[in-house]
Amino acid sequence: MRLLIAMMKHETNTFSPVPTPLARFGHGPGPLYGEAAIRAYCGTGTGLGAYLDLAQREGAEIVLPIAAGAPPSRPVEDSAYTQITDTICEAVARGGFDGIMLDLHGAMVTESLEDGEGELLKRLRAIDPVTPIAVSLDMHANLYDAMIANATVVTGYRTYPHIDTYETAQLAGEILLRAIRGEVKPVMAWRNEPMLPHVMRQGTDDHPNKELQHRCAAMRAEGALAASLFTGFPHADITNAGLSAVVVTDGDLKLAEELRDELLGRAWVEREAFVYQIEPLQQSVARATAMPLPQAGDGPIVLLDHYDNCASGGTMDTTVVLAEILRQGLEDVAVFAIYDPAAVQQTIAAGIGAQVTLSIGGKIAMPAIPAESPPLTVTGAVKTISNGRYRNRGPMARGIAMDMGPTVVLDTGAAEIVLISRHVEPSDLNCFISLGIDPMQKRYVMLKSRIHWRAGLGPMAPTTGSCNSTRSGARSTRSICPTARISCAGSGRRLRSAALSRPSTHRCSSALPPRNPPVSPTPPEHRPGIRRLAPVRRERARHDIADHRS
Ligand SMILES: [Zn+2]
Repeated sequence: MRLLIAMMKHETNTFSPVPTPLARFGHGPGPLYGEAAIRAYCGTGTGLGAYLDLAQREGAEIVLPIAAGAPPSRPVEDSAYTQITDTICEAVARGGFDGIMLDLHGAMVTESLEDGEGELLKRLRAIDPVTPIAVSLDMHANLYDAMIANATVVTGYRTYPHIDTYETAQLAGEILLRAIRGEVKPVMAWRNEPMLPHVMRQGTDDHPNKELQHRCAAMRAEGALAASLFTGFPHADITNAGLSAVVVTDGDLKLAEELRDELLGRAWVEREAFVYQIEPLQQSVARATAMPLPQAGDGPIVLLDHYDNCASGGTMDTTVVLAEILRQGLEDVAVFAIYDPAAVQQTIAAGIGAQVTLSIGGKIAMPAIPAESPPLTVTGAVKTISNGRYRNRGPMARGIAMDMGPTVVLDTGAAEIVLISRHVEPSDLNCFISLGIDPMQKRYVMLKSRIHWRAGLGPMAPTTGSCNSTRSGARSTRSICPTARISCAGSGRRLRSAALSRPSTHRCSSALPPRNPPVSPTPPEHRPGIRRLAPVRRERARHDIADHRS
């Protein structure tokens, strides 16, 4: 057996100012090719790791032309997309494969395309109309017809934080292998709903996505080869942004359609639960200060600067949340992280132990956000200088080498502030441990993260409940989201039910052209069923990238 395996992953925030050249696709200088990619991913808890394990189990010859994954950012540069897809297409064109296994994201937008994955699959089908193709996707995929129409089997993550990337690809690969052996004939039904669940309400420890994903899993006992509900990635101004589902069955399209409709119906009924309730920054931080001091073994109070999460396309250089934390006098804080390569170099030049006064962050222009993002002046001692490299201990992306670029820790007395040179979301404990910080020993930990922090750092906080929640039970809720003003559950597309029959309003004004005609605005309070709608896509993005500035 001969298998082609490849990875192309990017979650595109069309409002993000962070560029996406080819060099961003990798934890170093760029994508990995061939043997180097196999060495990097073999034995890891990733989608690519799963495909490689399956291929080895089958004794298959492996061709792995490219492994390209980049942290979320603005639309992928056309030249980068061309390089990545040409590499895959040229390998497929050489022919002789029994199957193709692709680890994709599903929310890639390029400078010229809304659906990067669908276009890749179309090209592959044009080159080779026969060889079966397995695709594993992120739960934040924004599905398009081309992705389904040009693949044999599509599966999606069932966990957020994403700790089942391996299992998702393994399932897609197993179905593909059964199809190659003639044991099954996969058919797929997919559709989307006009819903944009807020990312902070998509966690699978929480209602309603927890129950929805459980239902997906249960469907495998009812005739589905795979059933996936994608919560979608809302920060993309594209036609199909939002929630969708795909169900794979063995030749039974009617069953696939019924199960798909059930999933979408259940999600629609729960749409209000996907709305994120917010709290002003000052109030959130004040609430954290009012919490009782952690006792020994309690773990820290976690403060989430979630709108500046690089894994949603944030710059990680906004400082407003950190400034408020310092202004309110919180002490014993670990901060991960402020992205500022220039400040890192300045700190390295000063050397370990030196006292420095720095202007950190606030250096990246954000055209989609009219509010200022001022730099923050801090004074402290240089505690740590690091090359910024570590390996994930898991459970998310276990074994993968991470690269924060040159990294320093500045100790202001009140806070240990990590300054980084490459975007990394704090989803693994080793991002702290590698810098000599034990977050368990801190009173507060500020993270630029939304849900993924729970994967590696959640166990350190006694409660990992939803953010902005109030104290619950005998223990305080240790998670605080000190930002956010707008929750979104509406989209620019046409809403389904009679009660919600009016589209949300206005032209979008991002880099991509609007897909819907402008219509008369309907005030949110006139739309029953959803408490707050995001009336303007641009406004939604403004708050999603760095809400705390306003
Ligand atoms: Zn995701």
